[in-house]
Amino acid sequence: MTMQDTLLIVDDTPENIAVLFNFLSGHGFKILVAENGEDALENAQDERPDLILLDVIMPGIDGFETCRRLKSNPPTQEIPIIFITALSDTLDKVKAFKLGAVDYITKPFQQEEVLARVNTHLTIRKLQNELQAQKEALEKANLELQRLATLDSLTQLANRRRLDEYLQREWRRATREQTPLSLILCDIDYFKNYNDSYGHQAGDDCLQQVAEALSRTVKRTSDLVARYGGEEFTVILPNTPVEGAMQIAGLIQQNLQTLKIVHPDSVVNEYITLSIGVTSTVPTPQDTPEKLINMADNALYEAKREGKNRIILKKL
Ligand code: GH3
Ligand code: MG
Ligand code: MG
Repeated sequence: MTMQDTLLIVDDTPENIAVLFNFLSGHGFKILVAENGEDALENAQDERPDLILLDVIMPGIDGFETCRRLKSNPPTQEIPIIFITALSDTLDKVKAFKLGAVDYITKPFQQEEVLARVNTHLTIRKLQNELQAQKEALEKANLELQRLATLDSLTQLANRRRLDEYLQREWRRATREQTPLSLILCDIDYFKNYNDSYGHQAGDDCLQQVAEALSRTVKRTSDLVARYGGEEFTVILPNTPVEGAMQIAGLIQQNLQTLKIVHPDSVVNEYITLSIGVTSTVPTPQDTPEKLINMADNALYEAKREGKNRIILKKL
């Protein structure tokens, strides 16, 4: 059983209303009636009928004006309106359509024609509503996809793809505005041992905690923390000079130490530690973001070689 459609019949002549009422309610519609424009507006606003049959010539506000007001009121503007007019009235059809009516019927009408037009416009409106709902669902799904496509599912940090995009963008900005751009690359020390001792699940938990410590450390909305891959993380710090980047790197180590993630198989510390490479530059057109990453990678490599759990700075 489909839901009953509601029609609002607006006419100042009670006999006209009676004819339509009997016929259309006989076809299963729920019928509302109004004998003038004012009542029609109120009724439409309160009851939200699925379609309105609207007489043109009425005392007070006429059908055209009623239509105009219905169409300019958001709660009622989507309701299809069919004008009903006597043939002798020489309806201004162009005006009717311009005001937003979907159709018109001239009196005397054949009842079957009224029914056919009403059903056609109800169907069109339903299809339009379905399309709109589908469009909205698609837009929502699209947004969610975009979010997921740039997110690392384990840590909820930005993923490599987002990192690359963001770095390119901030690189161009920094080149244009001649502002410093810094980049931090971190790698968990002896993480393979950690996995081997505690298992992959504990390794994953550890990665999540490190990710959270990193996120907590950066404060500006323009800073981006990303998972570079495996147990490596990157922080992009736009508009940040060397000193600022070094400070952040130090804070990252501090914040990680307060977590006290026990790591008995680490050679350098009883807790999980990070080796950190820091780099910074005011980009010139001769340089590339890839060079910045390589430099941070070199710094990180050096931190590892010199004994891990330390910060090494290399300027581009
Ligand atoms: P180093 O101190 O020199 O950085 O040594 P390491 O053991 O940390 O580095 P290595 O590159 O030898 O090993 C990295 C390990 O990180 C390998 C793998 O077990 C672990 N790993 C990488 N990605 C994940 C992950 O998503 N989950 C878990 N649990 N472990 C991961
Ligand atoms: Mg490592
Ligand atoms: Mg590694």
